[in-house]
Amino acid sequence: MTTMIAARLHAYGSPMTLDRIDVPEPRPTDVLVEVKACGVVPNLARVISNFFGTQVPDLKIMPPLPAIFGLDPTGVVAKVGGQVRAIRPGERVYVNPARSCGSCRMCRSGQPLDCPQFTFQGYFGRSQDIMRDYPYGGLSQFITAPATALVRLPDNVSFEAAARFGYFGTAYAAMRKLGVGPGQSLLINGVGGQLGLCAALLALAMGATKILGTGRNAALLNRVKALAPGRIDTFAVADAGSQPDPLVAWTKAATDGYGVDGVIDCLPPGAPASAMMRALHCLRRGGRAVNVGAVIETLPINAFWLMTNRIGLQGSVWFSTGKGEEMAAMAGAGTLDLSALEHRVSPLSKVNEVLAGMDDRNGGFTNFVIDPTRVE
Ligand SMILES: [Zn+2]
Repeated sequence: MTTMIAARLHAYGSPMTLDRIDVPEPRPTDVLVEVKACGVVPNLARVISNFFGTQVPDLKIMPPLPAIFGLDPTGVVAKVGGQVRAIRPGERVYVNPARSCGSCRMCRSGQPLDCPQFTFQGYFGRSQDIMRDYPYGGLSQFITAPATALVRLPDNVSFEAAARFGYFGTAYAAMRKLGVGPGQSLLINGVGGQLGLCAALLALAMGATKILGTGRNAALLNRVKALAPGRIDTFAVADAGSQPDPLVAWTKAATDGYGVDGVIDCLPPGAPASAMMRALHCLRRGGRAVNVGAVIETLPINAFWLMTNRIGLQGSVWFSTGKGEEMAAMAGAGTLDLSALEHRVSPLSKVNEVLAGMDDRNGGFTNFVIDPTRVE
């Protein structure tokens, strides 16, 4: 096999086309992966319409065209470079798309997520050089990637489920920062969405005692609660305004009056700052929040309140390959139950239709997947 089909974007705002291109050769420390499934994030449609270019025209974070997108590829290792020792052809893997320069102070300190050149393979990022070095996203039949990016998948974890690892890993890294575990309470702000549902499933796996979630869609919230009625409780938020905030009162009532130990904010793009502030006010004294959501508005934070209540607030982006291995192990052992996901698998030839139709979904339960082995 010397050629392959890839969905490529030739101009922002136009549909992708299926093009026949050469199968790349892996460099010495890289692998070639035959993609079996690629997760599609709802934000991709916005990104390829050149959202960033129109918001901040001087920001050069989009890949050179023609570009192959696809953030969450899973598949089978087809070939390994000459210096790859511990991964062999035939292994089932998730490819962590997080790329870094490899030689800056942060990379050399083992903190590649803090690299100033941090770039998502198959999406966008801070380095045009890295995007040229790794130009293959998962909407392609084969991709090259560094061997260090591979998460090995247990046999009982499907390619479709693992194609959701981007959201799972983002939530997992944030929840590890919070110390989610036995005896702890967690509020997931936006629990019904793609990210929030992953956080709920992980909180169950990580042993959180009380898992509280907010959302707007009551039917969706009921489905989330039904995952574990004894440990999950949900609150349908209406627009803010009434004081005292009924959401704060509800979380305090659920935590012996203390407030929650941790908040993970998973709000979708377009959510107002006030929706995030309400969740922060649900924290107990000394509580911590990690933001992985997409609120863009500036938060009206009172620094004096933050200080006197010993509140912690941190941002978090993505996750390391090591965290990916931990999730794969949990999924393989069955402690992380992925069975709630509803996979909506489409052939590569339907990529434009998939991107146009992503608003039609059952919140985070719907898992959008492209199968690049099918191009009919
Ligand atoms: Zn670096």
